[in-house]
Amino acid sequence: MNILVLNVGSATVKFQVVVTDAERMANDGDTKLLRGQIERIGGESVITFRHADGTTRRLTAALRDMRAAVDWLVGHVTSPESGSGLSARADIHAVGHRVVHGGEQFRSSVLIDAAVLQGIEDNVELAPLHNPHNLRGIEATRQALGAGVPQVAVFDTAFHHTLPEHAYLYAVPYPLYRRHKIRRYGFHGTSHRSIAYRFRKITARERNDVRIITLHLGNGCSACAIQGGVSIDTSMGFTPLEGLVMGTRSGDLDPALLDYIAAKEGLSLSQVEAMLNSQSGLLGISGLTNDMRDLLAEANELQDRRARLAIEIFCYRARKYIGAYLAALGGADAVVFAGGIGENSAEIRARICAGLEWAGLHVDAQTNGALVGGREGCFSAEGSTLEAWVVPTDEELLIARDTFRVVSGGMQVGTRKNPT
Ligand code: AMP
Repeated sequence: MNILVLNVGSATVKFQVVVTDAERMANDGDTKLLRGQIERIGGESVITFRHADGTTRRLTAALRDMRAAVDWLVGHVTSPESGSGLSARADIHAVGHRVVHGGEQFRSSVLIDAAVLQGIEDNVELAPLHNPHNLRGIEATRQALGAGVPQVAVFDTAFHHTLPEHAYLYAVPYPLYRRHKIRRYGFHGTSHRSIAYRFRKITARERNDVRIITLHLGNGCSACAIQGGVSIDTSMGFTPLEGLVMGTRSGDLDPALLDYIAAKEGLSLSQVEAMLNSQSGLLGISGLTNDMRDLLAEANELQDRRARLAIEIFCYRARKYIGAYLAALGGADAVVFAGGIGENSAEIRARICAGLEWAGLHVDAQTNGALVGGREGCFSAEGSTLEAWVVPTDEELLIARDTFRVVSGGMQVGTRKNPT
C-alpha cells in the first residue's frame, strides 16, 4: 500500500511516501520513496525533496494556503519528475496524519470520519497551536484526493494513555480535572513508541520485557518511562512546555513565576507564556541560539560562558529526569537517546550520562563517538547494568504502518472513551 504521511504545521508540511503492507512490516521491508517539506506556505514557498538515494532537490512555488500546498504536493509526488515512481493520484492509497492532541478520547490511531473530525475539533481548546492546522491538513487532503481515499489520524498523545492516575494528575483541586480535563497528556508519543519498538526489535526482547527510559532530544525534548512496552510517565504535560529544557521552551519551572514575570516586565500572562515557549530554553539562557550545534561551537571554540551554561542546564535537567524515572520504574535496562541532538551529539550524550555510574551506566567513549548521523547501537561499556543506546526515531514509518493497519482493519477503528 502506498501511503502519504503528512505532518501539517501553521505554514509548513512535512511529508513522506512509504510503501508498506503486512509482509513488508514483518520483514522491516517498508520502502521510503520520497520525503521532504514545504515551508513558508502563504507566500513564495520553498519545497525540499529528499530522495531515497540521498540526493536532495529544492523548488519554489507560490502556494497561497494549505489547500494549495497539499494539492501541489499530491500533484507533484505523483508526477514523473518527482522520481517517486507514482504516476497518478490514484497511486496514493491512504494518507496518515500526525495529529498533536487526541485528548482523553483517542487512545490509538483511527480512521478519520465525521466523528473523529469532531473529536479533533473538540481538542482544539487543549492544543490551539496545533490541532487547527492538523484539521486544515485533513480537509486539504480530502480536497486533493477525494473522500474515497482513507485518512488516518495518529495522535502524539495516544502512546501516553497508559499513564496511571498518580502520574497524570497534577496536585491541584481535583474538580479542575473533572471540569476542564486538566492533567498530564504527554506528547512525542509516536516518537517514544517508535524508539521503544525499534529497541525491542534490535535487542530481540518481548514487549513485556522492555523497561527503558527514552529521551527524545530535538528542538522539542521529552523523556518517557516505558515499562512492559507502555508509557508509565513522561515529562511533557498538559502542554509540550513542561519537562526538559528545549530549544526555545523553558521546561519545568515554578508556576508562581508567571505572575511575577508579568508584573515585573509589564507583560500579560499570555505574553509570559509565549516567552516561556519561544524565548526560553537554550535560546533564552545563551542569548544566542536554540541550535545545539551552534551552541557547542560557541562553548567549545569561543568559550562563551552562557552557551556553556545553557548546555550544562540542558544536560543536568535530562540527568535529573533519568534519575526520577529510574525511581518510577524501579530500575531500568537502558537509557535510549533519539532526536536531532540525541542521535548526533556524542558530547551531549556523554555529558548527560556523566555521574550515572552509581546507577550502573558506564559510557564507552569510542563507541559513543561513532554513533552519529542515523547510526543505531549501544554505547555503554561492557558490564554496565544500565545500558545506553542510540536508536533513531522514525515517526513517519510508524504513522505509515498504523495507517496500513487501520485501513486494512488490523487495528481498532473508531473512538474509545477513557474509562477513568
Ligand atoms: P530535531 O528537532 O530532532 O530536528 O533536532 C534539532 C536539534 O538537533 C537542533 O538543536 C540541532 O542543532 C541538533 N543537532 C543536529 N545535529 C547535531 C549535531 N551534530 N550536534 C549537536 N546537535 C545537533
